Amino acid sequence: MDRKSDAERHPEKQNRPDNPIKRKPSWIRVKAPGSKGYFETKAIVQEHGLHTVCEEAACPNIGECWAKKHATFMIMGDTCTRACAFCNVATGRPMTLDPFEPARTGAAVAKLDLQHVVITSVDRDDLDDGGAAHFAAVIANIREMAPNTTIEVLTPDFMHKDGAVEIMAAAKPDVFNHNIETVPRLYPTIRPGARYFTSLALLARFKALDPSIFTKSGLMVGLGEDIGEVGQLMDDLRAADVDFMTIGQYLQPTPKHTAIERFVTPEEFESLATKARAKGFLLVSASPLTRSSYHADADFLMLREARNRKLDRVKA
Ligand code: SF4
Repeated sequence: MDRKSDAERHPEKQNRPDNPIKRKPSWIRVKAPGSKGYFETKAIVQEHGLHTVCEEAACPNIGECWAKKHATFMIMGDTCTRACAFCNVATGRPMTLDPFEPARTGAAVAKLDLQHVVITSVDRDDLDDGGAAHFAAVIANIREMAPNTTIEVLTPDFMHKDGAVEIMAAAKPDVFNHNIETVPRLYPTIRPGARYFTSLALLARFKALDPSIFTKSGLMVGLGEDIGEVGQLMDDLRAADVDFMTIGQYLQPTPKHTAIERFVTPEEFESLATKARAKGFLLVSASPLTRSSYHADADFLMLREARNRKLDRVKA
């Protein structure tokens, strides 16, 4: 599938002044895409007519992840109904839902022979359930066609979509992820279509519906948040009973997107991880290139082990 130009992807941002893109520091270096595994993954994605967030969000880790066949599928089309200031996924009028996409996704996951898969989507504010039933159909198809693959979903906030979170819990993914993205003070500029407390409430509600399913949430740093705000956000995620927190550096996709305020150093990421662990998360992943789905397969195994260790301590 041909990728749209930046202007086609973000018509709503074209009248904004350009924000020059800062040069990346030495600690942000990525593997260029081009391995045999990368091209095999690309062929499987194309053959099944699917979209990936790896490509649509121009993820810097694509060379490394796709070399291992770790693609994160983006369902319900390539066009989002929101226009977040950090995100490179195209904004506009979305496509009609494709009823055959769940089966094609299941077939692609089986062909990639994945131990763990992450499924995400565009925001579908136009649908009555925000796309929850479509997510559930994708999960069911993967369970059928790739029964040994564990499934992680990274969902929108389903704002004003009564019943959506219940559909998601009943679909029983292995991990339910919803990204908080940034601190509440920055929502009006960074995530204007969303509400901080709606995202927290979604995570808390999911956990209440099925405490056996892991919950996960991610924060981007480098947008102007301060350390006190990040500490409060960690407390808020723990109050929502979130098990796993990811923290990564925001990278500006185009000059029309919000500017990076600063590059957070690897040492600062270490210190954020220590702080988060002290707050009681079962698992924390924090590094400049951490993304929700980065190393999600290995992290899922660590998450299970961390919970088993915790349960053993409770029993002892
Ligand atoms: S980090 Fe996630 S989105 Fe980025 S390439 Fe890897 S799997 Fe894709």
